[in-house]
Amino acid sequence: AAPSPEEVLRRAEELKIEFVSLQFTDIMGIVKNVQIPIDVFPHVIEQGQWFDGSSIEGFARIAESDMYLMPDLSTFSPIPWDPQTARVICWVYNPNGELFPGDPRVVLLRQLERAAKLGLVYNTGPELEFFLFRKENGKIMPLPHDQGSYFDLTTDLAAEVRKDMIRALQAFGIKVEAGHHEVAIGQHEIDFEYSDALTTADNAITFKYTLKAIAQQHDLHATFMPKPIAGINGSGMHTHQSLASLETGANLFVDVEDPYGLSDLAKHFIAGQLAHARGMCAVLAPLVNSYKRLVPGYEAPVYISWARQNRSALIRVPAVRHGRLQATRIELRCPDPSANPYLAYAVMLAAGLDGIERKLPLPEPVEENVYHFTDEDLKRRNIQTLPATLGEAMAELEKDEVIREALGEHVFERLLEAQKRDWDAFRQYVTQWELDRYLEIY
Ligand code: GLU
Ligand code: MG
Ligand code: MG
Repeated sequence: AAPSPEEVLRRAEELKIEFVSLQFTDIMGIVKNVQIPIDVFPHVIEQGQWFDGSSIEGFARIAESDMYLMPDLSTFSPIPWDPQTARVICWVYNPNGELFPGDPRVVLLRQLERAAKLGLVYNTGPELEFFLFRKENGKIMPLPHDQGSYFDLTTDLAAEVRKDMIRALQAFGIKVEAGHHEVAIGQHEIDFEYSDALTTADNAITFKYTLKAIAQQHDLHATFMPKPIAGINGSGMHTHQSLASLETGANLFVDVEDPYGLSDLAKHFIAGQLAHARGMCAVLAPLVNSYKRLVPGYEAPVYISWARQNRSALIRVPAVRHGRLQATRIELRCPDPSANPYLAYAVMLAAGLDGIERKLPLPEPVEENVYHFTDEDLKRRNIQTLPATLGEAMAELEKDEVIREALGEHVFERLLEAQKRDWDAFRQYVTQWELDRYLEIY
């Protein structure tokens, strides 16, 4: 439960807070904030903070530019590296007193409410990967900070940086479980405890700017760009998911009798996500660059299939340690860390619920490495692929009524508008690869 205004104000006084950063995100998941001095905070808790949303990416047009931020007091926290400032994540309201449908947090709330009506809580836990790059003359360059690789110890130069990152995340109240060097040079992962999807999305947003701030203290740049360097692994945001009973908290994905340990509910949920994989891809992998990651050979998914262990599958069912059935979950592997986590979890839940409501049957698992399948194998097994480009993903999103409805018209239109701008600019750009390949021969 959220603390009362009195409790929060008392805490602010104890902590000698001078400023409050009122935060929310735009449709692309970029954090925005309005700073207020602490003496204004009691008024803002009561009345909200007016702001003009007309220039914010994906937010309102001029006609609907007057917006209000209402603090969600459960998110109040001092900022670890700026302890006299507290951040609080806000709900965005229309002047008429309704939650603004263009606020990504509201989009997720609506889907969580839908699940709650079915007696369900949606839990998510992301694996956020990122690169640490060195700067050259103050300029951010894709120069990997170290030459380390998977779980390395001796060549991992960032162990201390990661510790500082973990300390800052903990100071924000995020329960970190582990951190390690990832497969690629300069690449890392830090995992935190799963939670209900709204808390997790708030944490994922906090995670990203925390890591950027701490990296900066070490004169490094942390990036969540999905594929900064061609030819080596990109960064994913694999997301572990389960549904629990709203009443008892019990994990409803568990069935001990089933060979995969999965309940029918879980199976329909997976079937729903497979059915909407193409339609929701533009939300989960939202950048032109996202599609450079979703190619064979780099532990990122390409084919729409599910399996127990297979790392080329789109959905994996991780093995659960003996006696730990409560940990039963499924892992969706196409999201990347540039996705807006609020919108990502909203469409993932909508896809799963659609599978449950329509009782979609689960296709056979594919335990072989799909990367090695020929086109014929894929055809025979009726395995489809994820969109190959942002352009294709946008076209699929336009066709998917379930995903469109989950986003709502406002977010759907503004997201596509922003993506179309990028996609068109990219299509018109002549790359170095083209010059190298064609200039001489043709
Ligand atoms: N970096 C890989 C990806 O882009 C994932 C590696 C892993 O399994 O941790 O999804
Ligand atoms: Mg990883
Ligand atoms: Mg994983």
